[in-house]
Amino acid sequence: MGKIVKYKLNGVEREAEEGRLVIDAAKDAGVEIPHYCYHPALGNPGNCRMCIIEVAGAPKPQVSCRTGVREGMVVSSDSEAAKRAQASALELHLVNHPLDCPVCDQSGECGLQDYYMKIGQYQSEVREDKEHKDKRIVAGPHVMLDQERCILCTRCTRFVDDVTKTHELGIFGMGHAEKIALAPGMTLDNAYSGNVVDICPVGALTDRDFRYKVRVWYLDKTDSICPGCARGCNISVHTNTARPWHNDGKRVARLKPRVNRDVNGYWMCDEGRYGFGSLDADRLGKVLRLQPARTELSWEAVAAEVAGVLKNAGDGLAVVASGMLSNEDWAAYQALFVDTLKVKRHYFASEPDQVGVEDELLRKKDKVPNLKGAQALGLESGSFDELAKNLESGTVKTLYVVERDLTKVYGDRARVLMAKAGTTILQGPNKYSLGDCFTYRLPATAYVEEDGHFTNFEGKIQAYQKALAPIGDSRPDWAIFGLLQKALSGAKTSGAVA
Ligand code: SF4
Ligand code: SF4
Repeated sequence: MGKIVKYKLNGVEREAEEGRLVIDAAKDAGVEIPHYCYHPALGNPGNCRMCIIEVAGAPKPQVSCRTGVREGMVVSSDSEAAKRAQASALELHLVNHPLDCPVCDQSGECGLQDYYMKIGQYQSEVREDKEHKDKRIVAGPHVMLDQERCILCTRCTRFVDDVTKTHELGIFGMGHAEKIALAPGMTLDNAYSGNVVDICPVGALTDRDFRYKVRVWYLDKTDSICPGCARGCNISVHTNTARPWHNDGKRVARLKPRVNRDVNGYWMCDEGRYGFGSLDADRLGKVLRLQPARTELSWEAVAAEVAGVLKNAGDGLAVVASGMLSNEDWAAYQALFVDTLKVKRHYFASEPDQVGVEDELLRKKDKVPNLKGAQALGLESGSFDELAKNLESGTVKTLYVVERDLTKVYGDRARVLMAKAGTTILQGPNKYSLGDCFTYRLPATAYVEEDGHFTNFEGKIQAYQKALAPIGDSRPDWAIFGLLQKALSGAKTSGAVA
């Protein structure tokens, strides 16, 4: 940290690091100066002219995104002159911007709309017709471009030039005809394309997955952690429960990145952003014994039966789990399977089903959030080849699977392998492809339905919060393990259900 200096902002004495941009220093002090082009991770071209301030002694107004704090400086962002300059800049942005707020998906979270309400001139002096441009350009698999809503802040072009370095977007044309467009022959299909929607301050870039599904003011927002890989990007889960008939009846409407400079900065990848389909599809809600006939059970009844199975399984028990488990789940897993049942066969390593692309920006190859949580407890995974051999040979007679789809590990062979085990138990939020083949099915909550912690690849422990009510009778994995642990003390050592 550099030298701390004293300066005055809107009549109040403040302190800031010398040279810190006035726009940032003001934000630190709780004063929001209007801006579009400036973004802390994308620089300060100073082209939108919205963040104009008055600096005592300066011959003319300054832009606060390019002015550093100095000792004794006197700054006003809310003086009559500053406000008039900001309102004039806004008026220029509105010259060609269409008045389509009622049908714009950005409405309710639009920088143009917000500033207009705050500092707009209301009585416009512009009489000329607006410049019309293309309104429905499919920019890429996730993003739609409306050229006439664009205010040419260049945030999106700086993102694809400086962050992803993929250069799909540019500014073409001159004067009033200037517009954002795709570079010739390109589509906006990089692995982080959804971020341009977040940084676009207006409704020029919208999310194809989300647009027109639900109005933003109906959404609830909960802090969470992306479970899409070992990075653990900080996210906000936007849910729609107030209007269940909107968003095609789905509770999760979208995921947005949350700023954490140490983990993900301002961004998240598209894989993580759009990978939430399983939260509202193929969910388990009932406690079931499926073999020999489908029977609904209470949690107490199933715990007694399954505890009996586990107690009698001895060395023939193998447990498959996934790095989707929280730290709380892993602790309860350890207490049940390691400390109490002394199970020797644990399989939770990332196999091809949970390994993917890694890059230098955010994505990690482990496509689960919390293998580190298991490692931190000293848990070790065997190989899935070894498990297959043990199932083939009949060494493993009881298979307990937690939050994992075995067909993604073994392909078509999974069904045959599972049939070799006498009793099989599936615990998890989803049915997966073999969900009907298990002896028991125990519904677990998804990460959005519980509080918990993940430990990311660097060992950072991060909390996520409950955003939604659990589906049906589902419970957190740690609670199910705890229930079995309790039931084990009363379980008899014979008569397991096969
Ligand atoms: S499309 Fe959005 S982010 Fe890109 S220049 Fe236009 S207003 Fe800015
Ligand atoms: S990088 Fe990983 S944690 Fe971050 S958004 Fe993508 S999948 Fe999620």
